[in-house]
Amino acid sequence: MPSTSIHELAIGEIERLSRRGFQQLALPEPLESGFEQSTLSQRSARLWIEGLIAIGFFNLYVIADHFIRGDTSWLPLQIRLCIVTPIALLVNVSMRWSPNKIYRETSIAVASCLIGIVHLYLESNRNATSSAYAQVGLIVAVIFVNVVMRLHFVYALSASTVLLVSDLVFIHHDHFLSGPEKLLGITLAICAISMTAIGNYSIGREERVGYLMRLRSEIQSRELSFLNVELQRISSLDSLTGLANRHSYELQFAKLWREAVESKTCISAIIIDIDHFKNTNDTRGHLYGDRVLVRVASLLLQSLRCKDDFAARFGGEEFVVLLPGATTEGALIVAERIRKLVEVAGSPALPEPGVHPRLSTVSCGGASCFPGDANCQEDLLDAADKALYRAKSEGRNRVCWGELAKTAKRRAPKEERTIHHLLNNSSESLAQVD
Ligand code: GH3
Ligand code: MG
Ligand code: MG
Repeated sequence: MPSTSIHELAIGEIERLSRRGFQQLALPEPLESGFEQSTLSQRSARLWIEGLIAIGFFNLYVIADHFIRGDTSWLPLQIRLCIVTPIALLVNVSMRWSPNKIYRETSIAVASCLIGIVHLYLESNRNATSSAYAQVGLIVAVIFVNVVMRLHFVYALSASTVLLVSDLVFIHHDHFLSGPEKLLGITLAICAISMTAIGNYSIGREERVGYLMRLRSEIQSRELSFLNVELQRISSLDSLTGLANRHSYELQFAKLWREAVESKTCISAIIIDIDHFKNTNDTRGHLYGDRVLVRVASLLLQSLRCKDDFAARFGGEEFVVLLPGATTEGALIVAERIRKLVEVAGSPALPEPGVHPRLSTVSCGGASCFPGDANCQEDLLDAADKALYRAKSEGRNRVCWGELAKTAKRRAPKEERTIHHLLNNSSESLAQVD
């Protein structure tokens, strides 16, 4: 089931359970199974500990028996120690394996009824003190089932009914209690059962509401973090081209720059500007212009080969590409690949008979540097921008490379010759290098 419908179901159930009066405690599936699952191990562990304590108290009656009965206390001792205690211990030990709900609740209800009935059997109809004592023991058993063990409401109610009926039977056959004393005993038992059943119901309701609240806030925080990620994704992208936008470009540039400083590696930047784009807009319309932008953006992405290469829309019809680890030679190859790809595939429209296709071209200005040379990000971008300006003034549809003062001094004469060669014979050299 999708999380939104579980969310709505949980909200509906919180409202239902919070209404005044008696509400059915069982939740609709899958909430009931979820509730059972989330409370299973904690509940089993609690039942195990509390069961042990209860068995300990049950056997303390042996001492009480000794004082009340004196020499005749062998039978109760044997019943308590050899029959009831092993059965109760067996049920209790099985809680260690976190059994399923039906076994767990039924076995505890049965064991508790057994303890209560044995107590009534051993204590009632012996003498007046012992019979009164049997009533007190029954009330303790009811408190144990409904409040201490906190059996699920239906099981708690069933066990309480069995104990009450047993009490009625034993009290009816008791010869040591007078009529008013029997009435008092039954009244006290009914009071104890009613009050502890109300307590049991309230605890069950609160446990379920608590679970639903936790579930609701879990779903809400999951949805919130999903929306956050989605929001971050949307706010970092350019809505038209799907490339990273200016803001994420700035963040990425700072990050790549830092990494280049740490690793002492070269970083290159290429600014790409569509040629005569205003004219494209004017002659074919802005929507066509938009399609050109989308097309160029996709060709840009296709031109990048390394996983850390990064492309963004810089603004208007300008794009920027960052190439961490790329030296001038490598970055020139990428810039030329971009230029060439747009030249052959930059038109977003399919050729139509009788319509002259409008071809788009781009000019690229690039620069490379080692950030460790005390250059800053602005120096690199400024050099790339100046190179772009040169590419425009030299006729467009070309790649020009800029120099940063410190980088120019470092370059070896052999490297200088290669770059010169690449710039002057771009398509041929690139074919060789690629
Ligand atoms: P140059 O070759 O010198 O770069 O000339 P140009 O016409 O490409 O450059 P210019 O700066 O004169 O014009 C850029 C045009 O880009 C102007 C503007 O209307 C258009 N433009 C900017 N953003 C968008 C956009 O999102 N969609 C469309 N269709 N046009 C845009
Ligand atoms: Mg421009
Ligand atoms: Mg332009």
